[in-house]
Amino acid sequence: MLESADVSTAAAEPPEIASRYEPVIGLEVHCQLRTATKIFCPCRNRFGDPPNTHVCPVCLGLPGALPALNREAVSLALRAAVAIHCRVQPVSVFARKNYFYPDLPKGYQISQYDRPLATDGHVEIPAAGGFRRVRVQRIHMEEDAGKLLHEGFPWSGEKSGVDFNRSGVPLIEIVSDPDLRSSEEAHAYLSALKAVLLYAGVSDCNMEEGSLRCDANVSIRPRGREALGTRAEIKNLNSFRNVSRAIAHELARQAAWLESGRDVVQETRLWNADRGETVSMRSKEEAHDYRYFPEPDLPPLAVSPAWVEEVRSSLPELPAGKRRRFVAEYGLPDYDAGVLTLSREVADYFETVARESGNPKAASNWVMTEVLRKLKQGAGDDEGRLARCPLSPSNLAEMIRLVDDGRISGKIAKDVFERMWSSGEPPGAIVEREDLSQVSDRTAIQAAVDEVVAANPGQVETYRRGKTATLGWFVGQVMKKTGGKANPRLVNDLLKKALAG
Ligand code: ADP
Ligand code: MG
Ligand code: ZN
Repeated sequence: MLESADVSTAAAEPPEIASRYEPVIGLEVHCQLRTATKIFCPCRNRFGDPPNTHVCPVCLGLPGALPALNREAVSLALRAAVAIHCRVQPVSVFARKNYFYPDLPKGYQISQYDRPLATDGHVEIPAAGGFRRVRVQRIHMEEDAGKLLHEGFPWSGEKSGVDFNRSGVPLIEIVSDPDLRSSEEAHAYLSALKAVLLYAGVSDCNMEEGSLRCDANVSIRPRGREALGTRAEIKNLNSFRNVSRAIAHELARQAAWLESGRDVVQETRLWNADRGETVSMRSKEEAHDYRYFPEPDLPPLAVSPAWVEEVRSSLPELPAGKRRRFVAEYGLPDYDAGVLTLSREVADYFETVARESGNPKAASNWVMTEVLRKLKQGAGDDEGRLARCPLSPSNLAEMIRLVDDGRISGKIAKDVFERMWSSGEPPGAIVEREDLSQVSDRTAIQAAVDEVVAANPGQVETYRRGKTATLGWFVGQVMKKTGGKANPRLVNDLLKKALAG
């Protein structure tokens, strides 16, 4: 998750594109639903088991086997649809999407086509001066295909295997409008979407395990022009970082192409992460290539308004709502509240610190900078790492209180934070043992001030001639003498008096 909060990994567009062309990007996101069983059969939906251990005639596509729609899958898809503010269609229709591939034994994928489950939603992303909506065209349900195994077996040199455990795993596809204008925005959209899906409990959204997959549609157009340019669709984007990199690369490629007087061709391209470039895979297929037709073995899916309401009322507070509440309740800037609410675990952690310290501003600063920085180090996602991290929100809150009460300085607090993070000890115990208490003792600080003033007659002279901006330098000297423990306010007061001569 932290990966997604880390905007710095987003690749920036080269300047020549920004000046002459406007990027236009739309994302198609596939998300595996965390059901107990598959979408049309009772096989388990579970990642990581030995190949072909969760299969049956339905998900193997054997002739004559009939699909039966999993109600839990529809429920989770509805949670996503409502959380993304979509209009849920009272009736949607499953369709066969016909194509040949070894991971698709039936020769067609059951999907939804012209009558999807839900339409017209939106996701909010940070933008200049606040947040803005990225429109979501549609959300439809479909089944996943199997998975080709090209590596890791003794026979991998000669042949590939197919694992059908994934065949029939329920998916939703979330299709955005072409509303994104940079690779950073695409990254932000994906982060926001992932946050909503995780909050709503729809999916584990694990990109490494393929439960969240993204195709990027990328085009550019001369600035000021209304009509969209020809797009390339990039596949094989298996991390947030690669989504950003691939889009940035593709935008540059299209710009260079147009600059040299050629037209961009509509095609499907593949991202090669090792070489850092997209390569042409095939000319883009059109809908008619798939010969879509309504699935004869499944009735239309009817969703009652009552079902939608039931789903709506069972949803927890979602990221955008939580963000607005943090702004209203804790007085945080919108942007900060957005960062803190990208992950529910981080948001809960922040709230505990804010409540127990009584200082939401400081709580937000510590969580946004130090805690998120720490979480970024090491493997795994930040939900997991936050759960394992030894620094409890209560201990962080206590540390903030120590600072606010003047018992330790802000500088020492950084030290204490590091120690708490690795040992899990409460801050009081650390401060006591390491003798880190802030020196607020007037005479001790006065002595340090006098020493510094006596030892630096030249600097004192400069100050007295009017260069009072050097006060900071004197403060630094006194801090050094006191091991960073002096109460800064007292140091300032006493220094000013001493320097005034
Ligand atoms: P398909 O089903 O062939 O992939 P769609 O029309 O459903 O095509 O669009 C898929 C995605 O492509 C959507 O996310 C949409 O926003 C995006 N898109 C469509 N046209 C463009 C374009 N000219 N530039 C960038 N993205 C586009
Ligand atoms: Mg597509
Ligand atoms: Zn099955």
